[in-house]
Amino acid sequence: MENIQKAAELLQTANGIVVLTGAGASTESGIPDFRSSDGLYHQPQKYGYPAEVLLSHSFFILHTDTFYDYYFNNLVYKDAKPNDCHKALAEMEKLCRVRAVITQNIDGLHQEAGSTNVIELHGSTKHYYCMACRKQYSLDDLEQTGVPKCGQCGGTIKPDVVLYEEPLNEKDLMKAVTVTADADVLLVIGTSLAVYPAAGLLNYYRGNKLIIVNMSPTPYDGRARILIRDKAGKTMNSILSILKNMSD
Ligand code: NAD
Repeated sequence: MENIQKAAELLQTANGIVVLTGAGASTESGIPDFRSSDGLYHQPQKYGYPAEVLLSHSFFILHTDTFYDYYFNNLVYKDAKPNDCHKALAEMEKLCRVRAVITQNIDGLHQEAGSTNVIELHGSTKHYYCMACRKQYSLDDLEQTGVPKCGQCGGTIKPDVVLYEEPLNEKDLMKAVTVTADADVLLVIGTSLAVYPAAGLLNYYRGNKLIIVNMSPTPYDGRARILIRDKAGKTMNSILSILKNMSD
């Protein structure tokens, strides 16, 4: 509890807060992460390839049907709703100076909760485009079975998600680097900090007010001023309550 109080105090007095989230911010919405014991990397599956292979660019090109079968069944959660972590982050914008939420997640739940400046480093399962004519589609336009084809030209539709072997969108990455470099407080939630270049963003942070909220250890824990090894939803809810009391 002492750490939660200290985190709230840092956030309340911060000149600029940048939040970096990962899959652990969404597990309480029923979306599994990759690396927890019940995460996607450890779940038995019928495909015979590791998740990193199934979710690679070359696998998408060579085995588009298998890719989509895995993708629709394991990465798309159309009915998932924002949890206490997403909601608290959105509410925090009214109480303190949140500059941006940088997320590695592809579920769109920060925007759904109401966060206004979200940088989606790995794209979104909500957005699609035709590889031939670039016509754009949303998740609601797709049937979620088989390989989706373009209604305009018949080309193969690709998710607007960054697959393994693909580079990140340069503009988004530069925006993320710039806001992180300028951040007073960096609040990191629910990420193993094992996926690069996203994890490398921490090397651009120049402040000494790093807060990490994560259930398991990360390679950057030694740099944290405040380390909270607890659930993201519960933690962010408690921090939000203290911030609200402070503002009364
Ligand atoms: P990860 O699976 O490597 O790490 C998740 C971390 O969150 C773990 O360290 C785990 O201990 C922690 N965690 C799990 N539940 C938590 C909770 N309730 N509260 C606090 N911590 C919790 O995920 P990552 O670091 O984000 O990297 C994996 C990649 O997987 C990302 O690139 C992301 O795009 C993708 N991914 C996204 C989603 C999503 O959009 N929701 C889901 C799975 C994977």
